[in-house]
Amino acid sequence: MSIGRNLERVKERIARACLRVGRDPAEVKLLAVSKTVGCERIKEAIECGQRLFGENYVQEALPKIRELGPGMEWHFIGHLQSNKARHVVGAFQMVQSVDRVSLAQELERRARAADTPVDFLIQVNLAREKTKSGAAVEDLERLLEEVVNLRWGRLRGLMTIPPLGRDPEEARPYFRGLWELRERFRRQVPPPHCLEELSMGMTGDLEVAVEEGATMVRVGTAIFGAR
Ligand SMILES: *Cc1c(COP(=O)(O)O)cnc(C)c1O
Repeated sequence: MSIGRNLERVKERIARACLRVGRDPAEVKLLAVSKTVGCERIKEAIECGQRLFGENYVQEALPKIRELGPGMEWHFIGHLQSNKARHVVGAFQMVQSVDRVSLAQELERRARAADTPVDFLIQVNLAREKTKSGAAVEDLERLLEEVVNLRWGRLRGLMTIPPLGRDPEEARPYFRGLWELRERFRRQVPPPHCLEELSMGMTGDLEVAVEEGATMVRVGTAIFGAR
């Protein structure tokens, strides 16, 4: 199956899910997750009009971002150590995995030094999985209070990765939970920060995420094949 066909199929899946709940498919961005995928195949996606890509590992991503050149939008979606923040600023337009004040502050320092703002999402660990990063729900309010003071880092919303399940319906409570957190906190987030973006849903459960209000789905396997 060609990458172009795969992209079309994923967009159809998003559109059908939108239709079921009366949403406009234009509200849902498609982040193509290109971890482990070489530049040749990423270029195929670019030729089909895809511009938004997600990567998990700094070392793997930087040469690809350099080779593929300007005009792309890159989101960092993996666990980020604070000492790697300086590599991320300038290369990635958004960091989706901010889960602690110290990381947000390091991004702020590096963004100011580079004279380049960086957008970010707060990753929330709704299922309290020990193996996953993400802020605990009870820490979210304090984290929000801190990050809205940043000037170079701009909060844009929330991200979550639900526990791996067999049935996509198992993810629904977590997606709904993220939506509810946004409703609860959005009035406490002053401009230029906001909580508009909800990054949730992957290959196996993107329909459920769209039904629950995702503004961005992160899809790797359904576009580039199994890793
Ligand atoms: C790998 C990855 C994805 C994509 O997963 P698929 O199941 O291949 O679509 C999405 N989000 C994150 C954070 C990932 O690490």
